[in-house]
Amino acid sequence: MPDEKKSEAELLRERLLREKKSAFRKMPELFDECEEYCDEYIRFLNVAKTEREFVNEALKILRQEGFDELSAVSAFGKGSRVYFNNRGKSLIAAVAGKRPLSEGARIIAAHIDSPRLDLKPMPLYEQNDLGFFKTHYYGGIKKYQWAALPLAMHGVVVKKGGETVELSVGEEEGEPVFCVTDLLPHLSRKAQDTRTAREVIKGEELNILIGSRPVDDEKVKEPVKLYLMKLLNDRYGMVEEDFISAEIEFVPSLKAGYVGFDRSLIGAYAQDDRVSAFAGLKALQESEEPEYTVILVLADKEETGSDGNTGLASDMLKGFICALCGFSQTNPDMALLKTKCLSADVAAGFDPTFSEVSDPRNSAYLNFGVSVERYTGAGGKGNTSEASAEYVAEIRALLDGANIPWQSCELGRIDEGGGGTVAKYIARLGADVIDIGVPVLSMHAPFEITSRLDVYSLYRAFSAFYT
Ligand code: MN
Ligand code: MN
Repeated sequence: MPDEKKSEAELLRERLLREKKSAFRKMPELFDECEEYCDEYIRFLNVAKTEREFVNEALKILRQEGFDELSAVSAFGKGSRVYFNNRGKSLIAAVAGKRPLSEGARIIAAHIDSPRLDLKPMPLYEQNDLGFFKTHYYGGIKKYQWAALPLAMHGVVVKKGGETVELSVGEEEGEPVFCVTDLLPHLSRKAQDTRTAREVIKGEELNILIGSRPVDDEKVKEPVKLYLMKLLNDRYGMVEEDFISAEIEFVPSLKAGYVGFDRSLIGAYAQDDRVSAFAGLKALQESEEPEYTVILVLADKEETGSDGNTGLASDMLKGFICALCGFSQTNPDMALLKTKCLSADVAAGFDPTFSEVSDPRNSAYLNFGVSVERYTGAGGKGNTSEASAEYVAEIRALLDGANIPWQSCELGRIDEGGGGTVAKYIARLGADVIDIGVPVLSMHAPFEITSRLDVYSLYRAFSAFYT
């Protein structure tokens, strides 16, 4: 509508008030533009379901794009593209900027681990002629969501001699899958229906059914377990003790894909936080001679609190930056103080079915664009790092400047619960940091939902940040 038809109050409203609006209304052209990117994202989700697989796929891409291993380079300057593979589970990569590192870097930090079921060190057992694996869940899951769901096995077994065997069963057409059993409703009245949601399925009930066929010998003890171990031995050369030095993860055996008649949404396991990690990887690959040195961190262990030597509570990022700074005798602490970071992670999408947990004025809505979260944490702003007003203003300008739809949000209503990201570990190094991502529905469930417009907008935001 031309301006002259608007009343004075309408114009005043436009000028003074911020209207939350769907990107479908603001930028309808994005929907067609985003298809190619989203198709590629979906393909990637299907091949990189664990942190190790993500690192492997990312390494293939980075090597193709001319990135060298950090330990193999003797200088870091114009045109340099380097990466550091931290134990095959987290990855840091950088492209040298036009400006010296003493002026700071531009970091995007996402995580590539996701909630799942890990095997216990001694997982294999037989009970009543059925074979099972004992699991210990990883990250914050609603345990009941993982029962009666087809699961696939991924991981590595490292034998005593150091030989590593990679496993993957349950993803390809024709391969068997696995599952945790649930109680039938007919008999759950007393045994299960009275339990609270956290205990509908208890931790020790997340037992994965893996077989039922015994060895052909009536005298032998635990014949089903023995037959299963024999199959694993035939296929992988494993003995039972090898489970102790294995990392075996069970994830939903579901394919990523579009959701809805209009294909406007994306459904997949582990979009938290592969949606950011993939966008960061794309933006990094495409980054040529950026103004500042750009760094991508793909971290492990976020879902369990970032502890461990592949998580961001470790000094891995600091070590990487010290190494880069070492080439030019730059003080890494001073460089970090001038560094700016996007902590790239998903936001809780507003779910109309459960609206009571959200403050509608401070929620992230699907299709409303990239989510910008000044702080996460829990009630009283505990356990978080809050971005300064100055840095938030810069990010607003960056997003508006690049014509990227965005929205500001919190993690649900105060005192409803809470959560965190890697932001506070980056802030600890002295850099400016803010959380940015996309809203997700059913976060941490076996099938998480995002919006195609948001997913694509996140990639555009990262590209703008890396310019
Ligand atoms: Mn996350
Ligand atoms: Mn998470």
